[in-house]
Amino acid sequence: MNKDSHLILKKGRERSVQRQHPWIFSGAIEKINGNPGQGETVRIVDSQNNFLAWAAYSPKSQISARIWTWDECDVVNSEFINNRIYRALGLRQLLFSEQTTNSYRMLYSESDGIPGLIIDTYNDYLVLQFSSCGAEFWKESIINSCTELGDAKNIFERSDSEVRKLEGLTQNIGSLRGNYPPDLIEIYEWGIRYLVDIKTGQKTGFYLDQRTNRIRIREYAQEKRVLNCFSYTGGFTMNAILGKAAEVLSIDSSKTALNLAKLNLEINQFNDKLAHWIEGDVFTELRTFRDRGEKFDLIILDPPKFAPTVHSIEKANRAYKDINLLAFKLLNPGGILFTFSCSGGINAELFRKIIHGAAMDAGVNARILEQLHQDRDHPIPLCFPEAEYLKGLICKIN
Ligand code: SAH
Repeated sequence: MNKDSHLILKKGRERSVQRQHPWIFSGAIEKINGNPGQGETVRIVDSQNNFLAWAAYSPKSQISARIWTWDECDVVNSEFINNRIYRALGLRQLLFSEQTTNSYRMLYSESDGIPGLIIDTYNDYLVLQFSSCGAEFWKESIINSCTELGDAKNIFERSDSEVRKLEGLTQNIGSLRGNYPPDLIEIYEWGIRYLVDIKTGQKTGFYLDQRTNRIRIREYAQEKRVLNCFSYTGGFTMNAILGKAAEVLSIDSSKTALNLAKLNLEINQFNDKLAHWIEGDVFTELRTFRDRGEKFDLIILDPPKFAPTVHSIEKANRAYKDINLLAFKLLNPGGILFTFSCSGGINAELFRKIIHGAAMDAGVNARILEQLHQDRDHPIPLCFPEAEYLKGLICKIN
């Protein structure tokens, strides 16, 4: 730890740190004392030189430092990192039994006290993603801790997220420990088997955050004609089939995802006659359905992040409104819409407003039956609302 390096905050800018928000923006810094290196631990002090926190320094990012701890007595070292990893694992062991799943987000960045680190468990593989200088700095310690965890001997790195660029870090993808992963790893979740491509699949291979929401479909699907938009590898599709849907149409623009979805249906021995696949653009396909006068009883909209940051909110707003409006129009009377947004830039209140606007313009009266969130392995610290990104509504129209 570089005891000499201090980040002195501007007067008044210590408040968010005192409220335990873990980010220090470049604009809040009055002065940097010493010469801290990338990812090194720095002492954060207020304008009067009072201790506030220990943080990891990111010289190139707008978020200049990410806080490790607010306790002056803490020492940020391998043991500290190891403790955080064990604490994160302990929570997941509490949340998930072997019956539920063998795959979960084992460590979720700020939410588990290691900003910029994601550890996802897929069966006997761990996938690590480093996206901050601080996490990168402690990489070897993190890998060593993971190796000692026991179950997962195989560790793969997927540090290919866009945010790495903002930190001045380059991409890293490859095996870190144990066996090089096969093309597909089999996992299970609530009684359904999935093949996951951790090497090149989206995110770290699978949308673990939708776990609980996927099974909600089962209760609504019986005898329904279902349209699953942005289906990826068929998670909602298979849960609808398990819920005894009459028929499920799934749309995705990725051929690779659809091929994997078909394979998933096969390994679960689901009746493939119930499923139809469309490789295409949801914005276009929904219009085609509208023009053909097609109707559905249950529609799922789980699009990718339209607004990664607050800067793209307006464009995203229009995109969400567009697909939700079309979906409302395609529903039979009494129909159900499962609609999601995983954009960090759009909060729950704004999302509801957008869906309200879409319903109004579609000329339907919609009520919210359930509000959905990212699953529990993606917890949200009260002091860090930015960790909340996935919002969902189950709406029923009259
Ligand atoms: N519901 C899925 C996750 C969806 S992720 C699950 O539970 O696993 C979003 C998906 O949207 C990705 O598979 C991506 O390939 C697809 N996608 C992105 N833009 C699209 C578009 N314009 N039209 C159709 N699919 C799109």
